[in-house]
Amino acid sequence: MSEMPDPIKNPEIQFTKIFINNEYVDSVSGKTFPVYNPATEEKVADVQEGDKADVDKAVAAARAAFKLGSPWRTMDASQRGRLMQKLADLIERDRVYLASLEVVDNGKPFADAYDADLGEVINVIRYYAGWCDKICGKTIPADGPMFCYTRHEPVGVCGQIIPWNYPLSMFTWKIGPALACGNTIVMKPAEQTPLSALYMGKLFMEAGFPPGVVNVVPGYGPTAGAAIAEHMDVDKVAFTGSTEIGRIVQQAAGKSNLKRVTLELGGKSPVIVFADSDIDFAVANCHHALFWNMGQNCCAGSRTFVEEAIYDEFVKRSIERAKNRKVGDGFQSGVEQGPQVNQEQFEKILGLIESGKQEGAKLGCGGKRTGEKGYFVEPTVFYDVKDEMKIAQEEIFGPVQSIIKFKSIDEAIDRANNTTYGLAAGVFTKDIDKALTIANSVQAGSVWVNCYDPGLIQAPFGGFKMSGNGRELGEYALHEYTEVKTVSQLSIIRNL
Ligand code: ADP
Repeated sequence: MSEMPDPIKNPEIQFTKIFINNEYVDSVSGKTFPVYNPATEEKVADVQEGDKADVDKAVAAARAAFKLGSPWRTMDASQRGRLMQKLADLIERDRVYLASLEVVDNGKPFADAYDADLGEVINVIRYYAGWCDKICGKTIPADGPMFCYTRHEPVGVCGQIIPWNYPLSMFTWKIGPALACGNTIVMKPAEQTPLSALYMGKLFMEAGFPPGVVNVVPGYGPTAGAAIAEHMDVDKVAFTGSTEIGRIVQQAAGKSNLKRVTLELGGKSPVIVFADSDIDFAVANCHHALFWNMGQNCCAGSRTFVEEAIYDEFVKRSIERAKNRKVGDGFQSGVEQGPQVNQEQFEKILGLIESGKQEGAKLGCGGKRTGEKGYFVEPTVFYDVKDEMKIAQEEIFGPVQSIIKFKSIDEAIDRANNTTYGLAAGVFTKDIDKALTIANSVQAGSVWVNCYDPGLIQAPFGGFKMSGNGRELGEYALHEYTEVKTVSQLSIIRNL
């Protein structure tokens, strides 16, 4: 953990306009939308509201930047890497400010924003900066007097639509591989949290990125987001958000120009705790797996399966831990849990808590709002949860842990897989056979053994089943941002 500086409690909001072609501009419609601090419910800014006309402008800028012969297309790959390293340096310089913006916009504790989010942001950009001049094709010994090789070319103009739970992390997961491969970008941040993404415009300019390479269009999903997904001149769309909207994005791509689609969607990830595990360690990790980021985590460990022999003790200690979780404004030091991002999420979570009570789950602690102002929810633990209950099936995206009893490994595997999702899973045990059996049997894009969500940016992340298509992070993400071109030349002189 890096040394924790003091936050800027009232960060000046410097950029509220749409960023196109290295300029901050007003929306074509002249409309704006409000952005609120979820801890105080107070408005912090009015942001220019992008819609189809603004997306058209951004796509035109991105297309021009991608033109053959443009500064971006003719730049050495190593120079792209240098620009990205410069960008990472600038983010490091402004790290306290950016982390403070995340607190105001999203509500998360400053320490988490500074350490985890911004730490990851910087690492992801540096990681992909290193890839720029290492993305290569193959020479292929094809039949005949042929010289055959592949080129990994950029896809083109990439639309990127991101959610509000990790505003800047999601931004960099998307731009990192896209820029490394030489694409241009039209980014739509979530309407709840556009501020850090807009500030990045200034840093792209300062780092020296040519105009049009990255454009940021804040706005709502059904308008600005849909305009990207439907656009005939966008070559690829990458989306992170709900499964419901992912389906709409994929349909829009299919109905328009069959643009490439990658989706990182919801989850209902199981964590399986065997009786042989260190119980305190497992309790602490399962707590973290669910409550981290106010439970607003696509890979949250939201079904905690615990083996019968330690079940009662595990439940007792999990309740104690949740009761000790410190909830408050993200700027207060020592706070572990801030508010939920907005009223809609807050009400959805309280509604699901009600359904848990009504369907007969036992409430160990929490279960209601805390405080009068701000969207704070008490850390909530349900136990004796049954698979068919709504809280065990639907993504809650809030601080609500569901503990479920199991008896055998086979039963645990079947029940863990009995979901339409497949994003992640965790297993706690000291028995390597059990760990590997679970790891190889659960349908999930990531399986964590005796840890949960260690945040390895060098490793791929993504979903099986309705949790998505494609992979982000690591080398694998590069495949999602390149087209493979096969070049075959007939050698007319002789077959060598
Ligand atoms: P969440 O439930 O986490 O808010 P959403 O899936 O609603 O997630 O939103 C994630 C992102 O998708 C946001 O940037 C949002 O504006 C955008 N979005 C919402 N609806 C659409 C849509 N119809 N088309 C494209 N993007 C959309």
